[in-house]
Amino acid sequence: MKVLVVEDERPIADLIGVYLAREGIEVEFCYDGEVGLRTAQGGTFDSIILDVGLPTVDGTQICRELRAGGNWTPIIFCTARDDEVDRVLGLELGADDYVTKPFSPRELVARVKAIVRRSAQVVGANQFLAADGIQLDLRTRRATQNGRSISFTATEFDLLAYLMARPGRVIERWELLENVWGYAEALGTRTVDVHVAQIRTKLGSQAPIRTVRGVGYSWEAPTLEVEP
Ligand code: CA
Repeated sequence: MKVLVVEDERPIADLIGVYLAREGIEVEFCYDGEVGLRTAQGGTFDSIILDVGLPTVDGTQICRELRAGGNWTPIIFCTARDDEVDRVLGLELGADDYVTKPFSPRELVARVKAIVRRSAQVVGANQFLAADGIQLDLRTRRATQNGRSISFTATEFDLLAYLMARPGRVIERWELLENVWGYAEALGTRTVDVHVAQIRTKLGSQAPIRTVRGVGYSWEAPTLEVEP
């Protein structure tokens, strides 16, 4: 497993590096936004840990450019302030997760591992979900809508698959956090809402995801589990 860390504060970068290395994860460091962007574009990483406030090119811009270029490597943002959290969550950047400084390096590493495990997940041969013109291939992690390919982040894909696989059932936010993200304690339910909003934006207003106020979400279309 190889992770890119883009963080201009060297003590923080070093600390993250120590904890990742302890888990046997290979780490590459960039201390500047422009170098980070070029490195991310030029290499293959299982995940990118991205500081928001960076010299030359800031973290949100790096994320935007990677996604615009079709790079869907899972990204975890490190934010320093609450208004940065709002920017990261509000701009439909295609980030997979975030931590707020000061964060626990152990928790960050747990999230990296969870996200990489999910995006590498190989499930049974029959895992092909189809509903309402939307098709998910859980092995290749490709999504299409009416034959048109749609790019989801790792988290969006897993969240949509979780909902689609349970048609008609109201799923509470905590259940989504626990099963899609793999941890429920640290994250607020706002994270779930933002990711659902991004899925809706990508699928269009007709997406059969119903909001059950104060509870959670349900997938409102029959889903077929079929052979590709
Ligand atoms: Ca910084």
